[in-house]
Amino acid sequence: MSNIGVLIETGDDGVKESNFGVITAARGSDDPEIHAFVLDGSAEACKGVLASYGVEKVVALGADGGDLSSSPDLQAAALAAAVGHFNLTALLGLSSAAGRDLLARAAAMLDAPLVQDCLGVDLGAQTVTKSHFSGKTVATIKLNGNPIVCGLRPNSIEPLSAPCEGSVIEYQAPVQDGGKLKIQETKQSASGAVDLAEANIIITGGRPIAAPENYQILRECAQILGAAVGASRAAVDAGFAPHSMQVGQTGKTVSPKLYIGCGLSGSVQHFAGMKTSKIIVAVNTDKDAPIFGKCDYGIIADLFEVVPVLTEVLKEQQS
Ligand SMILES: Cc1cc2nc3c(=O)[nH]c(=O)nc-3n(C[C@H](O)[C@H](O)[C@H](O)COP(=O)(O)OP(=O)(O)OC[C@H]3O[C@@H](n4cnc5c(N)ncnc54)[C@H](O)[C@@H]3O)c2cc1C
Repeated sequence: MSNIGVLIETGDDGVKESNFGVITAARGSDDPEIHAFVLDGSAEACKGVLASYGVEKVVALGADGGDLSSSPDLQAAALAAAVGHFNLTALLGLSSAAGRDLLARAAAMLDAPLVQDCLGVDLGAQTVTKSHFSGKTVATIKLNGNPIVCGLRPNSIEPLSAPCEGSVIEYQAPVQDGGKLKIQETKQSASGAVDLAEANIIITGGRPIAAPENYQILRECAQILGAAVGASRAAVDAGFAPHSMQVGQTGKTVSPKLYIGCGLSGSVQHFAGMKTSKIIVAVNTDKDAPIFGKCDYGIIADLFEVVPVLTEVLKEQQS
């Protein structure tokens, strides 16, 4: 039986939901033994929910060299040591901001092949799928090595539950901190409480939003939906939103279950960043706007009329 490692990301509410798709991908069809690595000391608290997705072994990862939380180098060194210690053939994680950083460092230390932003993985065949050229092609890439390291695009794989009995193992990696990097402060991005790249629902405002303060109507709706707020490049270039909110070819790549685009024409470059969304809803005043040819549901209307009504209806449903 193969041994697969999964890097778990946690937030204020415990294990981030987007991890469950990664665990489902790690399980694949061979039912390997999964070691889920928790780096922030919350392994015991994570055990139950991870076990409901088939994780039998939750590893509380620490390092002899000190506190993992403030040193990306120490985290990567501990993770790389654990991959060797548990004899893992693959390490998977999220291609989030944190995952891209940590998986890349660990892969370099392991001298392992790495692919980020994968849409799928076949661990038996050691292949991953990845979209290229703004989503126009999907390449299947073979990784030659042992172990291999893959970052999966958040929400690209449907999580499937597989309840089992979980246990926590402690592993203190015999590694020291090189002292080259230290995280001093972490700031919340402008897209709201929910991280844009990992959100299940995104509501985006394009050029007609017309002023930074007008994003407030999207934020109010987003708060009720538990959504993140995005922007088009036209809106970002006009100074209505920061670049951290931009979705698209030169912004963030997202894959939510529901994408509500308000005042977007439907440009190729915007779609390059969100075309893998499961359901796309468009609000546009122009019935001939290209986005209506690319969405699942279209509303021909003014976003400044539709969004407040949607917010009110959602509020009523909640109360
Ligand atoms: C190399 C390159 C990279 C790029 N990268 C990106 C990227 O990462 N992300 C990105 O978004 N773009 C990117 N672009 C820009 C892209 O080509 C488009 O210019 C941009 O996406 C258009 O933004 P928009 O849809 O908000 O604005 P517009 O194209 O101006 O469309 C606005 C739409 O809103 C509708 N509308 C007007 N008023 C209202 C209203 N009150 N209510 C509802 N609808 C209304 C209009 O009918 C129109 O269809 C890139 C371009 C290049 C060349």
